[in-house]
Amino acid sequence: MSARKIIAIGGSDAGISAALRARELDPTSEVTVVVADAYPNFSICGIPYYVSGEVTHWSNLAHRTAADLAATGMTVHTDTLATAIDAAGHRLTVTGPDGATRDLDYDSLVIGTGAVSVRPPITGLDQLGPDDGVHLLHSMGDTFAVMNTLTTKDPKTAIIIGAGYIGLEMAEALTLRGIQVTQIEALPEVHDSLVVDLEYLGRDSYMPLFVVLQAGAVLDAAMKAKISHAVRTALSPRFVPDGIFQVAEIPRTLSGKKQELPIKKLLLGQPLKKVVNRDAMANPACLDWYLAFAQKRLADTAAQ
Ligand SMILES: Cc1cc2nc3c(=O)[nH]c(=O)nc-3n(C[C@H](O)[C@H](O)[C@H](O)COP(=O)(O)OP(=O)(O)OC[C@H]3O[C@@H](n4cnc5c(N)ncnc54)[C@H](O)[C@@H]3O)c2cc1C
Repeated sequence: MSARKIIAIGGSDAGISAALRARELDPTSEVTVVVADAYPNFSICGIPYYVSGEVTHWSNLAHRTAADLAATGMTVHTDTLATAIDAAGHRLTVTGPDGATRDLDYDSLVIGTGAVSVRPPITGLDQLGPDDGVHLLHSMGDTFAVMNTLTTKDPKTAIIIGAGYIGLEMAEALTLRGIQVTQIEALPEVHDSLVVDLEYLGRDSYMPLFVVLQAGAVLDAAMKAKISHAVRTALSPRFVPDGIFQVAEIPRTLSGKKQELPIKKLLLGQPLKKVVNRDAMANPACLDWYLAFAQKRLADTAAQ
């Protein structure tokens, strides 16, 4: 029997972890990763620490080098854009770094192409970009553009729109570089948040949003309406949560990563022990609340 051919589109957390796991489960499988840029398996989460100077070279953001990835047995095509899928024929069309188009055969296809940065409805924003000193931050390409502005324009002040986790980390990074930062936030009452989408294998979708509020703020009907309105207008009606719940803390790993996937698995009915390693968490005590929430939701769903 010929080896199973698996292709992952996207070379960041989702694509690479799927590829690594596929090789682990079936070492005979032919696993190929197609990445639009030249930076597979980079720590996007570490970008603010490169901007601040705490990570001294961008290459140190790589979780694994190209040689490490090759050693796992996977093939990684960088600077290669997936442009079309022929699902019936099990073929993926890609455009490589030379501009040439070709088809790759697959048995299974994983799409791990991430998200795109939201452009909030701000008049004029659509016409502005890095050349104007206006940046979005998501990819290594965005990072190099930010660093180019910082080194060539030597700004003394910066405005950050959004005071979520990334906005705050960037405020800290730019402040460390000696830049005076002003941060603008539409929802100052929300200190931290986590959203999970429970759509899974044919079940009805359910998207709860967990929020940590600033001291003194109350999650009443008006606050819930304000949060939903902000999500609807800044993102899309599609992302308005089905329920909003106040929590004391958002579960995080020791390195500060939000634990969406473990919470999603918990809410889908998997045992706590199986989905999370408490020793790798910064705040394991907060899991008790999520466990009780999951148990109640599962009981309520079963009773319906
Ligand atoms: C500055 C910053 C800091 C962050 N900090 C944290 C943190 O502290 N904790 C936390 O939990 N999360 C953090 N995040 C979020 C985290 O980085 C993302 O959740 C994670 O990167 C998502 O991984 P992904 O693989 O789904 O998508 P992405 O990282 O968006 O990767 C998408 C991949 O798909 C590729 N791609 C897209 N389209 C194509 C195509 N057509 N063909 C080929 N390849 C394609 C891209 O090149 C890329 O490799 C942070 C994000 C940013 C931007």
